[in-house]
Amino acid sequence: LTSVLEYINDVANEDYLTGTLNRRGMDEALEREFSRADRHNTALCISMMDIDHFKKLNDALGHSTGDEALAHFANIIKEVKRTPDVVARYGGEEFILILPNTEQDDAVKVIERVQRQLTKKFFMHSEERVVITFSAGVAERIGEETPEEIIPRADAALYEAKNAGRNRVIAASSAKSDLIKA
Ligand code: GH3
Ligand code: MG
Ligand code: MG
Repeated sequence: LTSVLEYINDVANEDYLTGTLNRRGMDEALEREFSRADRHNTALCISMMDIDHFKKLNDALGHSTGDEALAHFANIIKEVKRTPDVVARYGGEEFILILPNTEQDDAVKVIERVQRQLTKKFFMHSEERVVITFSAGVAERIGEETPEEIIPRADAALYEAKNAGRNRVIAASSAKSDLIKA
């Protein structure tokens, strides 16, 4: 019975298409990891990743190929991330990565590894290579920042990465004074 209940819980927390956590699973993971970081007084980073021009891919190759591309991207993230890192589908073609015990520079390196792996392991459609790129923002937690505070900072960095031409990682400014000005 325990294993059945565990199974039901896992399925309820998972995104069916990509096998990453869904929003519910993400909320649980955020709570768990932020508490842990508080208890152990350790660093934590959040990255928001969004596929570039995904609408074009859907339009050109169809929605179900788009679905396969999403699953491919999710698999690459799962392959590259370190064991304690948690990936969730934030929505549509946007994913969030929680990096416990990690400072900003190392978090950026993890995301760059995802980028590199995507250029090695192509998404194939009808025996053709389909290039997938993504943009990302990374934010390191400041003090006792909550998920509701840090996620918008990671999102703002992602937005900057999009505006700067896409296919890049941008680290959020860590100065609190910048936040107040913004
Ligand atoms: P940008 O580089 O600015 O991110 O451009 P974009 O085209 O990726 O962004 P936009 O937000 O305009 O489009 C996102 C697209 O993702 C539109 C939507 O139809 C598609 N999408 C969202 N969820 C799914 C899904 O589950 N499957 C498929 N195939 N497409 C999805
Ligand atoms: Mg996009
Ligand atoms: Mg998007």
